[in-house]
Amino acid sequence: MIKAFRFGLVMPGGSRIVIDLVKPARVDKAFVMDPGEGTPARLVLDLAVTDRDSFLRKVASDQRSAQTPPPPREPQSSNGDARPVIVLDPGHGGIDTGTKGPNGQIEEKDIVLDFAKRLQEKIETLGKYRVLLTRSDDTFVPLAERVRFAREADAALFISIHADSLPKREGDTQGATVYTLSETATDPAAARLAEQENRADVIAGVDLKDQPDDVASILIDLAQRETKTFSLQFAHKLVSTIKRTTRLHKEPIKSAGFRVLRAPDVPSVLVELGYVSNKEDLQSLASDSWRDRTADAMASAIDGYFSTRLAGTRTGAK
Ligand SMILES: [Zn+2]
Repeated sequence: MIKAFRFGLVMPGGSRIVIDLVKPARVDKAFVMDPGEGTPARLVLDLAVTDRDSFLRKVASDQRSAQTPPPPREPQSSNGDARPVIVLDPGHGGIDTGTKGPNGQIEEKDIVLDFAKRLQEKIETLGKYRVLLTRSDDTFVPLAERVRFAREADAALFISIHADSLPKREGDTQGATVYTLSETATDPAAARLAEQENRADVIAGVDLKDQPDDVASILIDLAQRETKTFSLQFAHKLVSTIKRTTRLHKEPIKSAGFRVLRAPDVPSVLVELGYVSNKEDLQSLASDSWRDRTADAMASAIDGYFSTRLAGTRTGAK
């Protein structure tokens, strides 16, 4: 009845176990046995086979009575600090590992967290920006929560950081790619990638019904169009700057429907640093000096982007 299971931290002090079923099942009994006589505490679950209709009915009623999630993390207040806020978003975390190297020895969630911290340090050194991270440890953060965090922080730029992987049969692609949001993907590979990244919530068992695609309805307004322009401007700046130090994908700028890029008022990009499925990329991704060089280049791209933006504002051409 059980295909696979996994577990991990979803919040400080809270873990989650996800069990993938082969066919519909219901929880017959669930209880905890206290530790004793050299045995640890035990969680006991009795599953029983059920039919599809009863399964769906039970899921619907469980969702209605489900508790509300814990209060989300609030961005630290600016305390009168007027510098632009940059939100860095290391992908995945906790139960959601993201992609993995060939022997499973290196996980996307760890690569991108380390990279985001280095990048934070490099940007902070410039002294001109406040930098906030959507997660600074191995915790799972739902996609909508990442978007909300950036909006609440009044971010001037949001950068989601990931590392891609391709199955062998799809060739041996390499290099970094910068993605912006669009309803229609540039190509099937970009669409598939967005779908894969959007699965983060499903992996951790987040109830998507509680997270309406609020942004879709506001997409049309002007603010959104301006945000889109800024996102693209930054994507181009980023690519033209990091290409001096970092290997890029042959089409380094693409777009697709990434949930995490849906803040209507925050210019947002998603950077895939490289492919863990490619030998050379994997070597780079695992290397301290590569991470440092690339973070350096990204910090200078960010600074370049804000310099032109602020200069533009002064002359009245926003
Ligand atoms: Zn990812």
